[in-house]
Amino acid sequence: MAYQCELGNGQHLFLDQSGTQTLVMLSSSGGGQQQQATQSIQTGSWTTDPEVFRVANGVIVKLKTAQGEYFVQIQGSSIGVLSSVPALDNAQQIQMQQLDSPSQMPPMMSPIEPMQPMQPMKPMQMGNMQMSLKPMAMKMGDMSMQMGVPTAPPAPPATRQFCSQCGVAVQSADRFCSSCGHQLDT
Ligand SMILES: [Zn+2]
Repeated sequence: MAYQCELGNGQHLFLDQSGTQTLVMLSSSGGGQQQQATQSIQTGSWTTDPEVFRVANGVIVKLKTAQGEYFVQIQGSSIGVLSSVPALDNAQQIQMQQLDSPSQMPPMMSPIEPMQPMQPMKPMQMGNMQMSLKPMAMKMGDMSMQMGVPTAPPAPPATRQFCSQCGVAVQSADRFCSSCGHQLDT
């Protein structure tokens, strides 16, 4: 269950319980600027609703938990746990307001979405240059470069052939000229 109260001067205090942690959050919207300070304190589960007191030098949050009593002091925008029990006899208690749903909490308190698994890297393409990793390879026009993979032994020099129609160089395995489409006699 989450609680909030107004501390004045546009400052809001939010208290929430997350497992055995107490989340203390300060949100101030003074001077047109939104400021937030959050502190997560290992306190154990609350056994009763938290209480907030106004003291001379700030605000004190009293938490009663399964592990004992905790006093959290808020001064300005700093949040700290007191090591000793403060005198709260004359302190004025501030009324806490219960938040019905966590959605009323500021967005910062929403659970952090789990990280998406890394997408495998896609080959990079720039104009006629292409680069990919694993194996590292680079291709630029007709030239290509590869690293990390055994290089194939150089192919035996192919017998150079030329198209009888247009005279462009063709591969001996080609059946048609890549330039004019003329059927090549092998
Ligand atoms: Zn040709």
